Amino acid sequence: MACATGNFFVEVLPFIGTYQGLIYRGIPGLQVGSMVKIQVRNRVCLGIVKTLKVHPTEVCCSYQTVLDVVFDKPVLTFELILLVEWLVRYYGCTLSTAFETILPAMIRQGKTYLPEYGLRIMRCAAIFRKNSVKQKAIYQWLQQRGDIAYNQAMRQFPKSSQAIQALIGKGYVEKFKVEPVHQVAPVMINQPFQLTDEQMRIVHSIRHNFSKKIHSTHVLLGVTGSGKTEIYHQLISYAQQLGLQTLYLVPEIALTEQALKKISLRLCLNEVKVEIWHSRLREKERLRIWENVLRGEIDVVLGTRSALFLPLCRLGLVIIDEEHEPAYKQSDTPRYHGRDLALRRALLNHSVCVLGSATPSLETWFNVQNGRYKLHRIVHRPYNRCLPKVHTVNMSFEKPNFEGAFVLSTLLREKLSDRLDRKEQSLLFLNRRGYAPLLRCDVCGKYATCPCCSAHLVYHRSQQIAKCHACERILPIPKVCPHCGGFFEKSRGLGTQRIEVCLQKLYPRARVLRLDADTISSNPDWYEQMLSQRYDILVGTQMIAKGLDFPKVTLVGLIQADGQLNVNDFRAAERTFQLLVQVGGRAGRASQIGEVVVQTFSPDAACIQLGVAGKVEDFLNQECRLRSRYGYPPYRHIIRQILRSHSENVLAYTCLQWDLFLRKNLQSEDIEILGPAVPPLSKVNNYYRQHALFFSQDVLGSLPHLMQLQQKFRWPINVTTTWDVDPVDFA
Ligand SMILES: [Zn+2]
Ligand SMILES: [Zn+2]
Repeated sequence: MACATGNFFVEVLPFIGTYQGLIYRGIPGLQVGSMVKIQVRNRVCLGIVKTLKVHPTEVCCSYQTVLDVVFDKPVLTFELILLVEWLVRYYGCTLSTAFETILPAMIRQGKTYLPEYGLRIMRCAAIFRKNSVKQKAIYQWLQQRGDIAYNQAMRQFPKSSQAIQALIGKGYVEKFKVEPVHQVAPVMINQPFQLTDEQMRIVHSIRHNFSKKIHSTHVLLGVTGSGKTEIYHQLISYAQQLGLQTLYLVPEIALTEQALKKISLRLCLNEVKVEIWHSRLREKERLRIWENVLRGEIDVVLGTRSALFLPLCRLGLVIIDEEHEPAYKQSDTPRYHGRDLALRRALLNHSVCVLGSATPSLETWFNVQNGRYKLHRIVHRPYNRCLPKVHTVNMSFEKPNFEGAFVLSTLLREKLSDRLDRKEQSLLFLNRRGYAPLLRCDVCGKYATCPCCSAHLVYHRSQQIAKCHACERILPIPKVCPHCGGFFEKSRGLGTQRIEVCLQKLYPRARVLRLDADTISSNPDWYEQMLSQRYDILVGTQMIAKGLDFPKVTLVGLIQADGQLNVNDFRAAERTFQLLVQVGGRAGRASQIGEVVVQTFSPDAACIQLGVAGKVEDFLNQECRLRSRYGYPPYRHIIRQILRSHSENVLAYTCLQWDLFLRKNLQSEDIEILGPAVPPLSKVNNYYRQHALFFSQDVLGSLPHLMQLQQKFRWPINVTTTWDVDPVDFA
């Protein structure tokens, strides 16, 4: 090769809309994972060094030189760079999208972390001259507030940096560095803990894999409350003793705090350094954690799916709790699945991966069946806690009992009164927020729809509004039907608000808390309030079914167990089954025996019967057979293409042409096409939508092929397309 000695070439993954790395002439100080400035065409942009010392095939002088290194240390580990490439190939996104997903914004802007400062009073008897009004005001304000962030003081008293400086100079006020600390709530369970024999066996069998540093995946299948978390804690502690880091994923932000509290009961947080990571962190906090992780100072990262991108370099254990949760899937591009990407991460890092669930996903079960994952069953509940007693109520035999709606069955009402008398808590579950879901025209029978979506409007009584749950628009309640001039009336359907009102009528003295996407942000302390028995009955949507512990709840009511069953989705039975088992598990988790009342119009559906009986493996095996017969996931992957346009006609015409084009040019035996067709939500936010489903055994083989065809096809300017690999939502 004609390079001068000392010259070397590097491959850089640029933050631009491409899919592949570019070759540059290196400069001193580069490492794998370094963030660099490079020139692409006539623009300066950033990129990450993927490989040092590549041997270019073209003449060396045709390559440009890396312009600069942005940080003195690498910002990504080598395994993460490989993960970025996999993300790009598997989910069909560009490198710029991938890096936007992975790197905190402030890192991408080349910023480093600067600590925050606070102010506090140092001397109590301060004397102010007449002309230092501002100093006096700030001083008095600080006296009232105690320690306060410097920035907050600056917001309260704009242009006051000089005055604050003077206060500091006089020794009245001190400026100090704020060290972030976790707010760990007091201990909830006081019982000294000992693993059961069963738990011990599982811990030993998984621990065995750590020392070998070989990737292996383990599935913990255990009924709710069987102590999966205790096994996680033992494994975290063991990993830490070996100097290995843990990535601990939970599906919801609300669960991160709870998981942290539980860890703090078992492990000393002064010895095991834990950081929390989720999408609601401030940018500055992200930067701080990212840098701490890079320095190797963190033992455990506990967070939602985006935590899997943190640059843990000694990663030895990946825990994915409630692995079946659809919340692990990101709903915006690149639409990655947190579980699948975390599994890939564990593989790249040669780490041990533990998937936990009471109702494993079919994807996971498939891998258990073919021997790729090892299954560990937890059969016993610790302290011999009993499983709740389940009653199924066939709602066809009930009468509408509240404003013409089927709300509470006779049995559920009896059990509720019982619990109120005994001062025990109950939990009622319905998967739809709002009062009555729909507004219906009393003449033509049509439902009121959102002006920007094809979704029906939902009536919310407490605020007297109509809401679109597809685009979250809030509208005044429409009075007159645009089709016929008839009047809209509230339908007889059910929403969480209506249940709340019904309960208030039936039990005027009961303290009822409603919890759904509309109320959760206004009540951040609801979980503590539930634990301290400030409420008797909690009414909520699926968010209360997710992994939260309610030790004082002894009755769970599922208002419409079959609510999801009639949805046009091949996972409808799986979701219904999961819901039954998960929600049922919320009852009687501490010492008392719980009861579950399941209200349904289809008591004979297999998923409901198996769910009520808690026969998890029977359901999974049966569902596997069905999926295999029709070639649905996990037997094949689905690649969903969503096509959108402001113009319905242009979209319809384009879809026809695209369909013809595909059938003519797609020469892959492996790909089966369904559609393009109009999905259940044909319009969202003023965009008309269609979707096409591609069934394939091999995403990495099929997707590039489809994307090539997509690039060859001549799309009108006003039609956009998006890929969604392994979709969980078909609306
Ligand atoms: Zn009408
Ligand atoms: Zn809408």
